[in-house]
Amino acid sequence: MSGPEQVRDCTHWIGAESRHCKEADGVRLFIVGDRCPAHTPNALRGLPEAPPGPGAPRDWATPPAHRIPTDRDRRHLTPVPKTS
Ligand SMILES: [Zn+2]
Repeated sequence: MSGPEQVRDCTHWIGAESRHCKEADGVRLFIVGDRCPAHTPNALRGLPEAPPGPGAPRDWATPPAHRIPTDRDRRHLTPVPKTS
């Protein structure tokens, strides 16, 4: 595997030229693969690009409060003695 600076290039197949696009500028990952601005799913359909979304929440790295284990959650489980 390469480092974190992974080079992405457009994987769109240009059928008329029998080659992949390989454009590297502005390439983003879509469900169909890495695509340059000219070959995004919307661009291929002649539709405008969807506006950028809000992205990941700022506190994505920290779990929500209800998921942070408390001391009570961390206690060791104790076996319950049999009553019968
Ligand atoms: Zn392309």
